Amino acid sequence: MYAQVIVDLSSSEVDRLFTYAVPPEMRPQPGQQVEVSFGPRTLEGFVVSLTDETDVPPEKLKPLKRILTPEPVILPEMMELATWMRRRYHVTLVDALRLMIPAEMRGGRVHEKQVRVAALNVPEAQARAAMEKNRRAVKQNQVLEMLLVKPYPVPFLEAQLGGVSAAVRALADKGLIRISSDEVLRRPAARAQVERQGDLPLTPEQARAVDELRSALHGDGGRFLLNGVTGSGKTEVFIHVIREALRMGKGAIVLVPEIALTPQMVQWFQARFGDDAAVIHSRLSAGERFDEWRRIRRGDARVVVGARSAVFSPVENPGVIIVDEEHETSYLSDKRPRYDAREIAWRRMEQSGGVLILGSATPSISTYMRAMPGVKPENRLTLIEMNHRANGRPLPEVSVVDMRRELEMGNKSIFSGELAADMRRCLDEGHQAILFINRRGFSTFVSCRACGKAVKCPQCDVTLTYHQVDDMLRCHYCGYEQPSPKVCPECGSRYIKYFGAGTQKVEQEVKALFPGVPVARMDVDTTQGKDMHQKILDAFRAGQTRVLVGTQMIAKGLDFPNVTLVGVVAADMSLNLPDYRSVERTFQLITQVAGRAGRAQYPGKVVVQTYDPEHYGIALAAKQDYRAFYHREVQFRRQGLYPPYTLIARIVYSAADEEKAKAAAQACEAALNALIDGTPDLRRDIVQMRAVEAPIKKLRGEMRWQVFLKMYAKGDTEKLLSAMDEQLTQVEKGVRAELEINPVNMI
Ligand code: ADP
Ligand code: ZN
Ligand code: ZN
Repeated sequence: MYAQVIVDLSSSEVDRLFTYAVPPEMRPQPGQQVEVSFGPRTLEGFVVSLTDETDVPPEKLKPLKRILTPEPVILPEMMELATWMRRRYHVTLVDALRLMIPAEMRGGRVHEKQVRVAALNVPEAQARAAMEKNRRAVKQNQVLEMLLVKPYPVPFLEAQLGGVSAAVRALADKGLIRISSDEVLRRPAARAQVERQGDLPLTPEQARAVDELRSALHGDGGRFLLNGVTGSGKTEVFIHVIREALRMGKGAIVLVPEIALTPQMVQWFQARFGDDAAVIHSRLSAGERFDEWRRIRRGDARVVVGARSAVFSPVENPGVIIVDEEHETSYLSDKRPRYDAREIAWRRMEQSGGVLILGSATPSISTYMRAMPGVKPENRLTLIEMNHRANGRPLPEVSVVDMRRELEMGNKSIFSGELAADMRRCLDEGHQAILFINRRGFSTFVSCRACGKAVKCPQCDVTLTYHQVDDMLRCHYCGYEQPSPKVCPECGSRYIKYFGAGTQKVEQEVKALFPGVPVARMDVDTTQGKDMHQKILDAFRAGQTRVLVGTQMIAKGLDFPNVTLVGVVAADMSLNLPDYRSVERTFQLITQVAGRAGRAQYPGKVVVQTYDPEHYGIALAAKQDYRAFYHREVQFRRQGLYPPYTLIARIVYSAADEEKAKAAAQACEAALNALIDGTPDLRRDIVQMRAVEAPIKKLRGEMRWQVFLKMYAKGDTEKLLSAMDEQLTQVEKGVRAELEINPVNMI
């Protein structure tokens, strides 16, 4: 018997199977972690398969050293998935496998926690007789008293009685009790306290959605896009489908954006599914994460809720995978392997014949495109729409305010007359308001009125942002900070001026306008401390703060019944980002924040402030007309040759010395050109390919050049991407190279 093993080293040189002899007493299974000799070293590895024959000459064969896990940690279908990922994302098999087990399981860093349990070792009557005979041994008798009821972990006895260790030892020596080891699971603390809740009766629209999904679950599976307006109750649909999967003996995975995994959300899922739910979030300790993983692996928890990486959970026989808020960029991994969790989910459901559900009020353009007629069956998503809010409330009224008019009328404040008046009314009526601005800090930049120069980061080619709270200037790219200057660093003039607005400025203006009204601010700066995020939201929920000012952190998933007004202070900020998705983002953002208003009994209103009110991204978001937006945006993408019609990829070269970065980029350009020239089909597919300076030329003290590629999505993109991957390994010392595919923020 031979084992084919992949060793746990991420290197393309060892990215193949090595054969080891299986000693007669060992019974390895595919998917188990093992220890093997590898040259002079001992390494961990995974058994991929077992065979009866091998071409390796016997004298070269080494035996497996040790089996590290009592059972396979990689399920057969996950091994298959990893093999698929190797090809799809150009990574080693081990890179893919590492995503499938908790990091703590590698290198033996976390172990199952053992606890000693004490139990009676004699009949009850005999124990009572011993207690009677030995009255003076108070502690021993207390222990026996408890064990008469049932066995207890020793730490529990210790916690109840105190100082029991000598007593426990004496009782064990006398043979009255026995001590055994039992494994305990470290459960996240909140679990036990959550009260169970029943599911809600469905609205007709929800019932229709559930019916369609349920029949797919009972049939051959399928892929769906659940496009429901904000508040349409998509979550309740998911719950009902998961319930059905459980009834059929299948499991489920629910992916949500990390930012939505609030303690509230965690408790909410536990209230619905109890111990059946494993919730994986970033606040878990390494041990807790490991134990949750094992509960899933054993089938004790069959519903997994988590962020991106939860898509790799070892759920056996998954019936449904749900990706909520599918348009979120957090589903794309920012590290290698650069996987798309939606794609992994798609693949897993293909493997198991299950149901994939992507949910969103504002689907990404590329997803919605797949739900349109004319798409090949293998790429197709079935569209399910929900156009009404579950509680029957109307969508909020959205008013677009032209800030150019405000300026003409002499209003230089950051609030339009309408937003200021609406805030006053909202507060007078005892309600709450949310103000959204996509920029932290006080001012966007600081510049000199005498010489016109803006104050820039010495390490990056970007302007510094003024933070009024501590009177500092900060770089939002590298974290550089300096006290704010009193005179212009360029010309010495004292006429320094602050331009643009950030969260701090908005907060200050609200306080000035409504003295005494408690205002909270939520951005990267106020949520550094542990649980700060939650504390700010709890205070707002409890009504201790009445106005919440924040960045996109507050845009999603929050459900505050008392919020009747939402202000988008500067909608253009995201519209003007250097990214082909900036309009899509703006549309999503306005729709999502608008979804925060008027969710309960009071009608909501949204005020969107902009200098470009006719822009379709803003006008159609105000109408909350996703379909019209989609058609308009697709036109823009097609004409501008943007994804999904094309693929955009770039390699960024960074080096202390600009010449080095430039030379590396040009060498890469030359190599790719040689490939393209030798492949006529490729030449036709390329829209653009060249070495140029990166948009932010200097970042964190390094100089940056890039090779920018745009090609038709229908072309042989795999070939070019592997060529680019190959280029990554060609850089000389002192140069860093990074490949980005459809980069989210082209800086
Ligand atoms: P979405 O994710 O589609 O924006 P949610 O799932 O957050 O919407 O639901 C919006 C609100 O409607 C929530 O407060 C939820 O409790 C409520 N809700 C959902 N379904 C029902 C239902 N069938 N009956 C009553 N309330 C519902
Ligand atoms: Zn100056
Ligand atoms: Zn910087």
